[in-house]
Amino acid sequence: MNQRTKDKIDLVALQESGHPRLSADAVLSINAKDAEGPNEEEQEEIARTMEAARKYFRMFAEPMKKDGATGMMIGGVLCIGCGEVLNGFMGTFQYGIVHGEGTCSNCGYPCRTHHYIKDEDGEELLSLTGYLLQYHPDELKETA
Ligand SMILES: [Zn+2]
Repeated sequence: MNQRTKDKIDLVALQESGHPRLSADAVLSINAKDAEGPNEEEQEEIARTMEAARKYFRMFAEPMKKDGATGMMIGGVLCIGCGEVLNGFMGTFQYGIVHGEGTCSNCGYPCRTHHYIKDEDGEELLSLTGYLLQYHPDELKETA
């Protein structure tokens, strides 16, 4: 159970599987607080944040639910590397050395739980913590 060999992941097969990338619009929506709707300045800020979020979340694979369908985190989410249930603290996810990063403890597939979405100048626009996502296979490289 403690094997973490990269050999357990068939990265080429995963990359050829056409697994969908995560859409920012499936993760979050941003609304202005007042009933009148966002003013022009708020609309620009929302658009800027969503643009950065769309670029950011494309790095990740859409989560795969137990029934094999893609979808969000409700219910058991399966590791796209090995198919084991990937459930944060009590499941197969384990944190690594880098803050907010970890792997599936069964197959070593890389995951991230802490997300800091920044604009092109590095200003943080949005952060999400404790939100377990796996990198899209196309973002990974074989390690020797
Ligand atoms: Zn796994």
